[in-house]
Amino acid sequence: MNAITFDRTKARFPIAEVVTSFIDGEGVPADNRGERLPAVCPATEDTISFLREADKDEVDLAVKAARRAFDQGPWPRMSTDERKRIMAQIKQVLTENLDEIAYLETLNAGITHTHTRGFHGPRMAWNFEFFAEVASQAAGQAYQQTKPYLSVVTREPIGVGALIGPWNAPIALCTMKIASCIAFGNTCVLKPSEFTPLSLRRVVELIHKTDIPKGVVNLVNGRGHVTGDALVSHPGVDVVSFTGGTTTGRAIASRAGQGLKPVALELGGKSANIITATANLDRALDGALLGIYSNNGQQCLAGSRILVDRKIANEFIEKFVARSRNITVGDPLDPKTQVGPLAYEAHMKRVLGFVDIAKQEGDELLVGGKRHDGFKKGYFVEPTAVMAKNNDTRICQEEIFGPFAAFLTYDDIDEAIAIANQSEFGLVGYVWSDHLPTAMKVSQQVRAGTIWVNTPLTRELRAPFGGYKASGIGRDSAEDCMMFFTEAKTTTIPLQEFPMAKWGV
Ligand code: NAD
Repeated sequence: MNAITFDRTKARFPIAEVVTSFIDGEGVPADNRGERLPAVCPATEDTISFLREADKDEVDLAVKAARRAFDQGPWPRMSTDERKRIMAQIKQVLTENLDEIAYLETLNAGITHTHTRGFHGPRMAWNFEFFAEVASQAAGQAYQQTKPYLSVVTREPIGVGALIGPWNAPIALCTMKIASCIAFGNTCVLKPSEFTPLSLRRVVELIHKTDIPKGVVNLVNGRGHVTGDALVSHPGVDVVSFTGGTTTGRAIASRAGQGLKPVALELGGKSANIITATANLDRALDGALLGIYSNNGQQCLAGSRILVDRKIANEFIEKFVARSRNITVGDPLDPKTQVGPLAYEAHMKRVLGFVDIAKQEGDELLVGGKRHDGFKKGYFVEPTAVMAKNNDTRICQEEIFGPFAAFLTYDDIDEAIAIANQSEFGLVGYVWSDHLPTAMKVSQQVRAGTIWVNTPLTRELRAPFGGYKASGIGRDSAEDCMMFFTEAKTTTIPLQEFPMAKWGV
């Protein structure tokens, strides 16, 4: 049996003993105010740090700092090129410290180091370059059709953004929020997940090693119902950008609605991965495994319902099961590891609870289905696949958010599309087929924000990403983020004198 150990004295990088907020350019002291919550390493179950929760008063300080930086500070008033220069510095400082940030992320979130160092980390740094470039290329509009007027439309920063993120890809997702918010001249307060505070605290500290004015990027740490709710409800917040679960999204949208604050919601998914008989089945198999098991199975865009054409189902599923058994589960810091631990204990229990639910509902367990017994400690779950009785079962209708695939079979592509659409979610869809009309039919008829044809998980930052139905409201992309984080202003000027009524003459 494997014992993965954590020894603070041998840590590759220093780990803060207490993680606090970062407000107005300064780290908040680790005093005795507020709750202290453990930050746990899911591979060893050790408490590696404590999070000092920001209460309502501390959230108020953070929003006021962001407000001041927006209402009076230089950031919204400086030229776009100057902001771009500072965002390039941010990219550089994050890139220089990628090893440390990726290490902290892996330690606290359990995402493999291969993934945090090779994918989430570079994406984090690139977010700043990308959105600075978007802002610097943005143009307004001009209308001249109504003579003799010229109407010009300019876009102005919307104000203070409340940015709330999940634990499954903290650095990649939260920095996209920060970068897309500040690039257009806004200021922000970020609230990461209370389960994974370590990496983002360091990221925000590093952002302040650049010329960024104080108060532009603030951070508060704490639980959703305490710190998050205080942030969303704060009257000084102008706009709310949220990524997380659908139930939380509903609560946040109604809270933000009371203040008439625009919200962008990137929520859960239960996406169909349609494997047709016309696919390159070797590639479809590779893609299906990556689609459900990468990022330890904790991804909104997972292909978690795998729909296989009945003609090829036995062979495909047999191979999938054999490959699942062979996946290397283990220490997320080990470069050989493919699947690491789930992020925290209650989440692991919830994921394993779906094995019991599946058994009760008459689904057939194909592989996995239990806590991995190769480790003394850690929230390791075996890569799991279940043949679902039908699409009405809970394992097909609820987001499990773990290494847990639900298989279904179908007889023709219309049936596959109907099954794909019989879901409250609509985040993404996958289809594997070398027959173009079939792939296009799926692309056109599956009601989801993104369809991947013959590829798993390819994120194009320029193109809209977001969900239909209960998977969200709004989209992330260059243009969508600009629209969301700016207000449009129309200015109308007559180009020549025109007759005007002379009242009261
Ligand atoms: P969650 O909804 O539990 O929490 C997300 C964030 O919201 C956390 O920071 C949490 O503290 C905060 N929060 C909770 N209640 C709040 C409240 N009342 N007011 C303000 N903030 C509150 O989600 P999670 O478990 O951290 O993340 C997993 C979920 O995120 C999954 O459903 C997944 O599909 C979704 N997700 C979606 C996308 C996407 O792009 N669509 C990307 C990643 C994750």
